[in-house]
Amino acid sequence: MVSPLHSNGRAQLREEKAVTSIGDLALKPDLRPELLLKLSGKLQTTLELSQLLEIFFEEIQQAVLVDGLTFAHSANNLLISQGKNSPHSVSYRLQTQQDYMGDLTFHRSTRFREHELANLEGLLTTLVYPMRNALRYYEALAAAFRDPLTGAGNRVALDKTLSREVELAKRHGQQLSVLMIDLDHFKQVNDEFGHSMGDKVLKDAADCMTACIRQTDMCFRYGGEEFLVMLSSADQAGALRIAERIRMSISDMTFENAKGKLQVTTSIGCATLRGIDNTDSLVQRADTALYEAKHGGRNRVISDADTAFTESERV
Ligand code: GH3
Ligand code: MG
Ligand code: MG
Repeated sequence: MVSPLHSNGRAQLREEKAVTSIGDLALKPDLRPELLLKLSGKLQTTLELSQLLEIFFEEIQQAVLVDGLTFAHSANNLLISQGKNSPHSVSYRLQTQQDYMGDLTFHRSTRFREHELANLEGLLTTLVYPMRNALRYYEALAAAFRDPLTGAGNRVALDKTLSREVELAKRHGQQLSVLMIDLDHFKQVNDEFGHSMGDKVLKDAADCMTACIRQTDMCFRYGGEEFLVMLSSADQAGALRIAERIRMSISDMTFENAKGKLQVTTSIGCATLRGIDNTDSLVQRADTALYEAKHGGRNRVISDADTAFTESERV
């Protein structure tokens, strides 16, 4: 099903629809069956979302000229654009009875006419099922990179993402920091409150970390009760600020079950990318800083600058 959502003031789909609201006056699509058949065939050649939208955008030009389109699916954090963002727009919601498949907005420099909107709606019907398949594929791929308990990225995702980000940051001379976060005395949580409470604490702690960072930052489960947070464009001061925010937020959380009430603390090691770094050396410095935080009494943040100072003091 394709249902009109809204348009901006200039395209005035609503007003026009209101004038011709009697069902049998609504315009029918005026599309050649060969065009629809060809479009359907092409849309079935890919499961990759942006490729699917690219094909759709290119092929519909034969029926309705469109400057650009934007696809948004907020639950999947997806925003994909093709072409350019012109002032007139019309939006549609893609859904079957079971699935919501996102909102699609068409952009154009001139107003969409009523018969063109009817044609767009006809063209959109060919996109519904390919879009559903592409979204399922996207979700399956995303799940393969996620830790099932906490929803954080898993080690596979971490290795891929961090090496790419380190390379990009070095190439463009941008800042990049990582936080290595370990829950303190977590074994006691399991021992005293049970494993399922331990699981809940892990999940809520990961949610809390995600809530403390920006959308461009990412949280990964490094192993057991240890997480790595990647902070794009964050220098040392920025990373320390976010680390402190995470430490405070987690220590403010309270948990309760039949065994009683519980609060947890974290130790955090921060490291900021240096010119000679690779992924391993960056993570290693965050790990050393974390070790220092544990050693210093836990429930604290230590940065790689502090550990360098400690090391030189030792000499
Ligand atoms: P420290 O402050 O030195 O980090 O002490 P700790 O007790 O947190 O560290 P330790 O490495 O001794 O224990 C980690 C515990 O984390 C032991 C393990 O059972 C628990 N753990 C690891 N993964 C999970 C999980 O998925 N669920 C639960 N409930 N516990 C887990
Ligand atoms: Mg621990
Ligand atoms: Mg640990």
